[in-house]
Amino acid sequence: MKAAVLEKINMPLVIGEVKLTPLQFGQVLVRILVSGICGAQLQEIAGNKGNAKFVPHLMGHEGCGFVEDVGVGVTRVKKGDKVVMHWRQGQGIESDFPEYEYKGKRIKSGKVTTFSEYSICSENRLTSVPLDTPEELCALLGCSLSTALGTINEEAHVKFGESVMIVGAGGLGINLIKAAQLAGAYPIISVDIHDPKKELALSMGANLFINTAKEDISKMIGTVGLKDVDVIIECSGAKQAIESTIPLLSGIGRYVMVGQPQPGQTIELLNANHLFGGEGKSVRATQGGRFVPSKDIPRYVRLAKAGMLKTDGIITKHVKLNDINNAIEQVRAGQASRILIVM
Ligand SMILES: [Zn+2]
Repeated sequence: MKAAVLEKINMPLVIGEVKLTPLQFGQVLVRILVSGICGAQLQEIAGNKGNAKFVPHLMGHEGCGFVEDVGVGVTRVKKGDKVVMHWRQGQGIESDFPEYEYKGKRIKSGKVTTFSEYSICSENRLTSVPLDTPEELCALLGCSLSTALGTINEEAHVKFGESVMIVGAGGLGINLIKAAQLAGAYPIISVDIHDPKKELALSMGANLFINTAKEDISKMIGTVGLKDVDVIIECSGAKQAIESTIPLLSGIGRYVMVGQPQPGQTIELLNANHLFGGEGKSVRATQGGRFVPSKDIPRYVRLAKAGMLKTDGIITKHVKLNDINNAIEQVRAGQASRILIVM
């Protein structure tokens, strides 16, 4: 089968032939329909996820597919099931690391990977959904959309009418705008350094877009009647973005970091005292918005089916696996929100 393989750090992925190995205890073979490209994969390509020692390895952690075969012990999914492929642990067996054959050698992979035609997954990285669930929705529920909904709901506990700022208008940022809107936040402010994001951010429900490369963020929030912000969700992981937005927290402010600063990087707060103002502000990092696949995916699917969770506009385009490197470049350059790879 064809797969996009990270052979070397900081190099384009290699589209190559990868051979499947027999399923082990708790493993499931999935035929992949679509996969998203997530910021985490850009970090892996850069070797920032402690993954350099595992190359060559397979990639991707949000996808949708059909179960083709199940290994011994698997009970949560069965052949023919449509599944959301997610990196967070759900129910079922945590299997050993899947193995593949690549260029005559055995390589190990993560418990779920999605940049390939087929994937061997640990049972607990898959959640079955009704067959009529759109594959685009399933892919987004594997990471970005679920992380966004969880971050707003479970980490930031956004209340009706609270102001929310989302730093970074990439795939996750756009999903967060949707999630904030669903929670009744107002105003919703989208921040980015790329002008082409403006139109999309506003069309997805942001009330204000600020390009911090050329606009003064403190002045700009005044245009929607704010002097500070109740909830700030940071997706870029950029040191400067974090340092310049933490001081904007209101007295009840919650700051949630979804994006990860690079390893070894430090964040400097000019006057940390201001964090003690108001009712005591919080700064925290989230792990996937506390997304619990088995509990959350069914209710999100229900919400989407009822028309209350819309994903239109989130996906910039669909591309083939052969074009994955171009797609990754576009995500890196900030020219896309979510690109789906169609297998
Ligand atoms: Zn992700």
